[in-house]
Amino acid sequence: MNEQKMPNPVNPLLKFWGIMLAITLILNLIVLPLISSSRVRETSYSFFLDSVEKGTVEMVQIEQSEINYIISQDGITQVCKTGIIDDPTLVPTLREKDIPFGSVIPSEPNPIMSFLLSWIMPIAMIGLMSYFLNRNLRKRMGNMPGMQFGSGKTGKQYVPDENSVKFSDVAGQEEAKESLMEVVDYLENPEKYAKVGAKCPKGVLLVGPPGTGKTLIAKAVAGEANVPFFSISGSEFVEMFVGRGAAKVRELFEQASKNAPCIVFIDEIDTIGKSRGSSFSTNDEREQTLNQLLTEMDGFGANKGVIILAATNRPEILDPALLRPGRFDRTVPLELPDLQGRIDILKVHAKNIKISGDIDYNYLARATSGASGAQLANIINEGALRAVREGRDAVLQEDLEESIETVIAGQQKKNAIMSDEEKKIVAYHEIGHALVAALQSHSAPVEKITIVPRTSGALGYTMQVEEGDKYLISKSEALARLATIAGGRAAEEVVFNEITTGASNDIEKMTQLARSMVTKYGMSDEFGMMGLSQQSGGKYLDGAEQMDCSQATAEKVDKEVRSIINAAQEKARQLLRDNMDSLHELSAFLMKEETITGKQFMEILNKEPVA
Ligand code: ADP
Ligand code: MG
Ligand code: ZN
Repeated sequence: MNEQKMPNPVNPLLKFWGIMLAITLILNLIVLPLISSSRVRETSYSFFLDSVEKGTVEMVQIEQSEINYIISQDGITQVCKTGIIDDPTLVPTLREKDIPFGSVIPSEPNPIMSFLLSWIMPIAMIGLMSYFLNRNLRKRMGNMPGMQFGSGKTGKQYVPDENSVKFSDVAGQEEAKESLMEVVDYLENPEKYAKVGAKCPKGVLLVGPPGTGKTLIAKAVAGEANVPFFSISGSEFVEMFVGRGAAKVRELFEQASKNAPCIVFIDEIDTIGKSRGSSFSTNDEREQTLNQLLTEMDGFGANKGVIILAATNRPEILDPALLRPGRFDRTVPLELPDLQGRIDILKVHAKNIKISGDIDYNYLARATSGASGAQLANIINEGALRAVREGRDAVLQEDLEESIETVIAGQQKKNAIMSDEEKKIVAYHEIGHALVAALQSHSAPVEKITIVPRTSGALGYTMQVEEGDKYLISKSEALARLATIAGGRAAEEVVFNEITTGASNDIEKMTQLARSMVTKYGMSDEFGMMGLSQQSGGKYLDGAEQMDCSQATAEKVDKEVRSIINAAQEKARQLLRDNMDSLHELSAFLMKEETITGKQFMEILNKEPVA
C-alpha cells in the first residue's frame, strides 16, 4: 500500500500571528491617520493668507513641514492646516496683524517608546485576550467528572482514575463487553495475535436504541484499557469551528497515531457519517468531514495499533462506505435489556442509593418491560428523590414502584380534580380493560389499576405485568389483546350507553395492532402470508409503516382491519355483558379506593359466580 501524505496545512499558530500583524498594520497605517486627520481642515496657502488678511486667524503655529492655524468666524473656531511655502513676507504680515505665532521645537519622539506603543502593545493585547478566551473554552469543555482533560487539541484524552466507569458498572450486554474486551486485549498484547496472524478490527461500531449504554460501555473501555483513549462526539466536529471539521478529523488522527497503541471513540457518529447525497439538502461541511474520516481510516494499516470505536442509534443512515470491511468492520449491537438485564441494571444503580428493607427487583423488572437502561437508571433516581420528598433517609420498595409510574406514565397530578361523574366513567373504562383481560385466559394478569390522573394525559392507568418477556405473540393472543384494548370503550357502552373521548389512545393502539396483523404478520384469512407494508424509518427508532400494495388491495386491507376490530369490540361487549355484576362491583371499588391491585381484583372477581 502506498501511503499518501497530505500536504501539511499552514501551521495554525503561524496563521494566527499573521492575522494579528495584519490587524495592527491596518490600525496604524489607515485607521489612526483617518481619525486624527478628520478634525483638522486642510486648506490652501492662499486661503490661509486671505484669512490672515481678513483677521479671522487667531493663532498660528509654524512647524517643520506645515502650518497649523486656528480661525474663528461667526463664533466657530476651527483648526486648519496648510503646507509650508518659502514666504519671507509671512512673519512681517503676522506681526502687522498682531496675530500670535510661534513654532514648536520638534520633539524627537522616543523611537523605542513609540514603536512599543503602536506595534507591540496591540499584538500583546490581542494575544492575551485570545489566550484567556481559549482557556475559558477549554475549562468548560473539560468539566467531566472523573475524567481529565488531556493536552490534545482535538478530542479529549481520558485518564482513568478510581471514579471512572468500569465494565462492572455496565449490567447485561455480555456479548458487547466480550467483543470490546477482545479489542482491548489486542491493544495490550499484540504479540499474542500476531503469532496466529490474526488482524485486529480497525473499527468497531456500537449500535442500539437510545439509552442502552453505548456511551457508557465506551467509557468503560477507557476505564479498563491500559492505553490512551481519545474521545470526541460527532457533533463537536460540526459545532465549534464551522469549516474546520475536516481539519479536526486530521488532527484527531495525527494525535492518535502519535499515541499508538490507543483507542479513538467517536460518539454519535451519525452526525457526520450520514449517507452522502441521501437528502436534498447536502451539507458540504459534513461531507468533507466524512471524506476526511474515510481517508484517515484507510491511512493507517491494520496493525498500527489505533482502534476506532464509534456509537450510533441510526446505523441505517450511515454511509455505506463507512461500514465496508477495513473501516468499521465489526458491529456490536446493544439491545434493550431483557428481564434479567433489567434486574442487573436496577441492581447496579441501586448500589449508589441508600436502601432500607428488601427490594423485589424481580417485580420491578417485570413491571418495566421495554424500558432502556437510561430509563431504569432514572427510575432508581426518581425513587431516591421521592424518599427525600417524603422526609425519609432511605429508599423503600414503594418509592421505586411509584417512580416506575412516574417515569413511564408521567408524574401523578396531585391537584387535578376530576368530577365524580368523570371518575365513574374512567373507573368503568379501566375495569373494562382489566376484566376483559382477566376473563380471557391468554391475557396478561392485571397488576394494578389506578384512576389518579397523570400529567402525560392518560386518565387512568392500567399496569399490566407480563410473565417474563414475550418475543412471539400468537394469533389468539393478538386477538385477545385487541379485545382487551376494546374493553374500555365497551364498558362505557354497555353501562352508560354513551361513549367518550377517553378511548382515543386505545383506538390508535388497536388499529395499529390490527393493521400489523394483516399487513405484517400474515394473520388474516384474506391475504395469508402476503407482506403488504414496509418499514420506512430506522430500525431502532420507530419508523412509520408504509403500505406496499396497490390501491385496490389497500382498500381490501382497510376492510379486513375493520372486521378484525369489529369482532374484537363485539367480543369485549359480550364478555362484559356476561359479567355485569363483576363489572359493577369492581368499578365501585376502584371509584372508592382510586387504586386496585391485581390481588384485590382477583378476589372480587372470583367471589362472583362466573357466567
Ligand atoms: P446511549 O446508548 O444513548 O449512549 P448512555 O450510554 O448514555 O446511552 O446511557 C445513559 C445512562 O443509562 C447511563 O449513564 C447509565 O446510567 C444508564 N445505563 C444504560 N445502559 C446501562 C447498562 N447496561 N448498565 C448500567 N447502566 C446503564
Ligand atoms: Mg450516547
Ligand atoms: Zn382505555
